[in-house]
Amino acid sequence: MTVIVRFAPSPTGKLHVGNVRAALWNWLFARKEGGRFILRIDDTDRERSTRAYEEGIKRDLEWLGLFWDETFRQSERFGEYDAVAEILRKRGLLYPCYETPEELERKRRLQRARGLPPVYDRAALQYTDEQISAFEREGRRPHWRFRLSQKPVSWNDLIRGETTVDTASVSDPVLVREDGVYLYTLPSCIDDVDMGITHVIRGEDHVTNAAVQIEIMQAVIEARGKGAVPAFAHHSLLVGADGQGLSKRLGALSIEAMREDGLEPAAITSLLARLGTADPVTPERDLMALAAGFDFARLGRAPARFDPADLDALNAKILHAAPYEAVADRLAAFGVSKPVWEAVKGNIARLSEAARWRDIVEGEIDPVIEDETLTREAAGLVPDDPLDGASWDDFVARVQERTGAKGKKLFMPLRLALTGEARGPEMAQLFPLIGAEKARARLSGRRA
Ligand code: GLU
Repeated sequence: MTVIVRFAPSPTGKLHVGNVRAALWNWLFARKEGGRFILRIDDTDRERSTRAYEEGIKRDLEWLGLFWDETFRQSERFGEYDAVAEILRKRGLLYPCYETPEELERKRRLQRARGLPPVYDRAALQYTDEQISAFEREGRRPHWRFRLSQKPVSWNDLIRGETTVDTASVSDPVLVREDGVYLYTLPSCIDDVDMGITHVIRGEDHVTNAAVQIEIMQAVIEARGKGAVPAFAHHSLLVGADGQGLSKRLGALSIEAMREDGLEPAAITSLLARLGTADPVTPERDLMALAAGFDFARLGRAPARFDPADLDALNAKILHAAPYEAVADRLAAFGVSKPVWEAVKGNIARLSEAARWRDIVEGEIDPVIEDETLTREAAGLVPDDPLDGASWDDFVARVQERTGAKGKKLFMPLRLALTGEARGPEMAQLFPLIGAEKARARLSGRRA
C-alpha cells in the first residue's frame, strides 16, 4: 500500500506553530514511508478564504522544506461535491431543514433547561409536504443535514488508540448551508475518498468530527462505488509554557513572523517534530533524518508544551554549527558577509543579530569609555592594517605591558570602547573586521 496523506489548511489565516505541526507530521510520515504528501486548500468558504493566505501558506511550507507532491483546491471541485450530494439526497442521507438560527437556539435552550444535551431533534425528518411548501412560500431556503446512524463509531487511532464516539451524542451535521455553500465536512470526506488518502493526521480538535466523517465517508464510498475509509491519527494540541492554550498568542507565533525574526526553519522543524514525544530535542537540519525517526507510537496524548525559549536555544545551536553555505542566501538578505558571519555565529541566537554585529564592525558606533587612561594608551598601540587573527593577542599583550592592567580590567575597557557592548563574539575575530583606523578612533573616544 502506498501511503497518501494530505495537509488541508483553510486559507483564512496564517500558518503558526499550532497548525503547522499537522503539516510537518504528515510530511514526515509520507517521506518515511516513501508515500505521497498532498496539499489541499480547503477554500469552500469563499468569503473568508483568500489567495494571499494561500500563497502565504505555500511560502511558509516551502521555507520549512515541506514540499508537496500535488496540490488542489476544493473550490475547483464543486461539480464533484454536487454529484455526491445529489446521490446522498436521493438516499435520504442528506435531508433539508428549514429552522432559522433563532429557532435552533431556542430548541437548544429548552434542551439545556431540561438537562438534555443540545443535540438536533431531527424535527425536519417529520416535515409534511405542506409544511415544506409553506416554508418555501415564506422565502426560506433549506440547509442540509447528514443523517447519522446514532450508533457508536470506533476506530483504532494511531495516536490515541481505540477510540469510540457515539454519534447519537452529536447533532446531524449541516453539510450545505441555505445559500448552497458547502461546509468543510462533505468536501473533505469526498476528497479523502477520491484521492485515496490512507492516513488522516491532524489535531485532536477533530476527534468528534472523525466519527461523523467515518459515517459520511462510508456513504461517499457507496455513492462512488469505490474507496476506503482512511486510518486516523489525532495529535494533542500545543499549550504555552504556562500550560494555557496558545490560541490568543498564535498571531505572534506565525511562521512568517519567525522567518522575519531570523529564526532558522530547522529550529522550528526540529522542535515541532519532537514536542509531544519523550524523545530529546536535538538540532537537525536534515528533514529526512527527522522523518526516519518518526513513529506514531512515540507521540503522547498529553498536550505538548511550547516554549519560545526552547526555540531560541535550539536556533542558537543550529546557527553555531551552521557552515556559511547553509545560511548564505539569508545572510545576504541581512547584508552580512562571510567574514562577519564566521566572527559572530558562535554568539548569536538569531540570524537577525548578525546584522547588528555587522553594524557594529562596519558601521559607526559611539564607543563606551570606561578607563580613559587605558584606552588612550591603547589607541597608540594598535598595529597597522591589515589586522589578522593574531593581531588581537599581540595588541593586548602590548597594552598589558604598557599599563600593567590585567584580566577584566584590561579586557572590558577595550571591548566597551571597540564595540560599545559588554558582551559579544571573540575580540580576536572582531578586531580585524573593525580595522586599525576605526579601532584607534574608538579607543580615543571618537564616534567611528
Ligand atoms: N481545513 C481543516 C482544518 O484546517 C482540515 C481538517 C482536516 O485535516 O481534516 O481544520
